[in-house]
Amino acid sequence: METETSMLKGKRSGAPEHDFTLAHYREILVAITASHPTLSFAEAAPLGRDLLARERFVLMRHDVELSLEAALALARADHEAGIRSTFFLQLGADYNLFEPESAALVRELLDLGHDLGLHYDLELLEQAGSDAAVVARRMIDLMEAFWATRVHAASPHLPMRAGRTLEIEGVVDVYDPLYFSDVKYLSDSTQSWREGVVTGLLSRYDRIQLLTHEYHWSEEGHAWDVLLLRAAMRKYERLYARAEANIVRFREGLRLRQDRDREFRARMESRRDD
Ligand SMILES: [Zn+2]
Repeated sequence: METETSMLKGKRSGAPEHDFTLAHYREILVAITASHPTLSFAEAAPLGRDLLARERFVLMRHDVELSLEAALALARADHEAGIRSTFFLQLGADYNLFEPESAALVRELLDLGHDLGLHYDLELLEQAGSDAAVVARRMIDLMEAFWATRVHAASPHLPMRAGRTLEIEGVVDVYDPLYFSDVKYLSDSTQSWREGVVTGLLSRYDRIQLLTHEYHWSEEGHAWDVLLLRAAMRKYERLYARAEANIVRFREGLRLRQDRDREFRARMESRRDD
């Protein structure tokens, strides 16, 4: 019970590499900004190889897998730390960018000074009737048009499974050697820091690409499997609430239709009587 209370307060109960509370995420940001300037891909991509002329930086990347709400929590934390980052979003994921609520959340990300990248599923794109890179480019065009913004980078979903990345016109590939080999690549994949938390590595590496995933971080510091299930539950609740609202709306439509049909019949019948 005591453990539960301390978890609710967001206190660290174990080693930092197992701490995925938002409080710890904010601590990480404080450490990063104290030692390194940060860059988003919108800032880094136009530099090309001149990026390497910068002595120190952390390139801030978020691949958004499940939850735009959770992405916004990271976006706010980054913003409060004075950091601009890039949120790589999927079309065809467990969230739908073009639900009105989701579109508004993406707008908020942009209003906080962050930018968007495309997070694409190669397995999906390979089912397309035309070239995967062309379809990915169209997805980017759609994002750019809808939010009146510019997308500078793309990241593949599950790159180990896909085994390759796409060359997409007009955007950089986050696994280009420039961002992957010439700089140190660190990730919180499945809540497992391969070399320990980034905080402990800042003194060792001057140039870093840091990938973090929105659904790994929560106020409570839950484990990733719990967070996966919670994201599914929240999606279910959202769909259920929408279904309930639709039932009310459609019932009202049907009721009005009965009234209108009756009025119409009455009018026709009274005309016949004339
Ligand atoms: Zn992914």
